[in-house]
Amino acid sequence: MKSIRNKIIVFSILATLIPSIGLGVLSFYQNEMMIKENLTRELRALTNYADHELTLWIKEQIYTVRELSHSKILTEGVVLASQSQKDKSARQKIFIEDYLKSVHNKLDTVLALTAIDTNGQILASTIDFQDTMPFPQNWTEMASIQGNVIIPPHWNKYYATATLSILVPILSVDDYILGALVATFDLKNIHAILKDPIKSPLGEILILDQEGQIMLSSDDRFLHDSKNDMTFSYDAEDLKELQINPEILQIPQGLGNEKVIGLAYVSENPPITIIAHRSYDSVYAAWKQQRDLFISLVSAILAIVAIIAFRMGHAIVVPLRKLIAATEDIVKGNFNVDLKTSQRNELGKLTQMFNQMADKLQQNQAEITSASRTMQEKNKLLETLSVTDSLTGLFNRNKLNSIINDQLARFSRNNRPFAILMIDIDYFKSLNDSLGHIAGDEIIVSVAQKISHCIRSVDFAARYGGDEFVIILTETIAEEAIKTAERIRSHVANIQYNEPNKLTKAITLSIGVIQSETEDTSLTHLLSRVDSALYQAKHAGRNQTYCIRPRLMAANG
Ligand code: GH3
Ligand code: MG
Repeated sequence: MKSIRNKIIVFSILATLIPSIGLGVLSFYQNEMMIKENLTRELRALTNYADHELTLWIKEQIYTVRELSHSKILTEGVVLASQSQKDKSARQKIFIEDYLKSVHNKLDTVLALTAIDTNGQILASTIDFQDTMPFPQNWTEMASIQGNVIIPPHWNKYYATATLSILVPILSVDDYILGALVATFDLKNIHAILKDPIKSPLGEILILDQEGQIMLSSDDRFLHDSKNDMTFSYDAEDLKELQINPEILQIPQGLGNEKVIGLAYVSENPPITIIAHRSYDSVYAAWKQQRDLFISLVSAILAIVAIIAFRMGHAIVVPLRKLIAATEDIVKGNFNVDLKTSQRNELGKLTQMFNQMADKLQQNQAEITSASRTMQEKNKLLETLSVTDSLTGLFNRNKLNSIINDQLARFSRNNRPFAILMIDIDYFKSLNDSLGHIAGDEIIVSVAQKISHCIRSVDFAARYGGDEFVIILTETIAEEAIKTAERIRSHVANIQYNEPNKLTKAITLSIGVIQSETEDTSLTHLLSRVDSALYQAKHAGRNQTYCIRPRLMAANG
């Protein structure tokens, strides 16, 4: 059954859910946009800061190296080393080396100082091994144009660190390039300046070489893969995407398989890529917390709304169901209905009105039942009156006719004869005249009572008119009928009256008797035969029974 309650619950839930979700989605979308904008700004600030600091640091180092390159000892040493004989040059080499070492001791950030000639041959170095520094072939050209050459960062296995080298030409007095001083720096030195510990926004900075290898990272975890003694590499695809796209990008599996959001800045000199990124989870932690809170809140509101809707639906459905059940009772004829209600709303009013209606129906039903009973009684009375003689209570003439017709029909079916007695009070006219009409009526009633008394319950007695009565004795032959007639006469003889002259006299009857015969096809025929039997009884002197014998009986004597 599609209950109203369920509809109310569904409607309430939808009415709560749709605007909540709509507003929630809109708000989360706006929040996400804001987060993205802020994050772009922050990561951009991070890369800019790192680039700015790096550039500044390089400039400072260039300045320092240039200062060293101007040293007279170095200039002269380089000139002599390139011009002198072999053994002499060896001496010069040691001489330069000593100079470089002495300077090196004063410079904390420098890993190595190397002096080279214009061919790129190492003249002297503070380190013993041959550092495979990737000098550009045309470094002299670049140095004469730019004043220095920055050798991009690369991983230096010997130092187990990423290094950056700055090459500054050693110039003669007339600015002729004699060689170069190469200072190799440990990139870790700039680790501290990559981010401002106070001002910089949250996020990590990575400095990548052209191959995408991580040279420097503010997150120490990705500085060096000490297990495999190699640098971490950034995924080539991700790096390409970041370098092309100026906006923030989501990297599903960033370094350490952590989902990150990153932004890249590509620097040309030195050719490096600076990447700033933040863990996706940390960026969206607040957003997720807000989302979870929102979901919990909406769920709680939904639960409350569902409970309220259920109760509201219940408050409507329960009285309605009671009303339906009560209506069914009324349909079945049970008007005894009294619905309880405590509600003061329309349903309460409806229930009250329903109770009143049921009461009214019950009253009407009682009235109808009573009226119907009265009518039935009256009908019964009317029916009785219509077939009854009002004075004697015997059947009247109309009823007698139908009884005789009925008996005739039975007789023709089963051929069992019935008998008819026609009774007339003797000299009744003179009784009436002497005693009065009322006394005459009383005598008629008394005779009727005696007749009723003398017949069986299956027989019928009717007043034929005036002082005449007709008795139908069912399934009775003439002989038996005569006996009944005689019994009636003897009973009626007991009714006595006093004449005005005080003489006591008895009532006498003349009775005609016949038995039904096959030629008695009609009521008239039958009545005329019994009437003639009565006539014979009167004619023979009254106070007697005369029977017109059936033909067969008469023939038998
Ligand atoms: P008979 O012996 O030949 O029958 O003589 P009778 O005087 O009885 O004559 P009949 O039967 O013809 O007369 C019937 C009388 O009955 C006539 C009438 O005055 C009287 N009568 C008819 N109806 C009523 C009635 O309802 N009440 C009373 N008191 N008398 C009636
Ligand atoms: Mg008479």
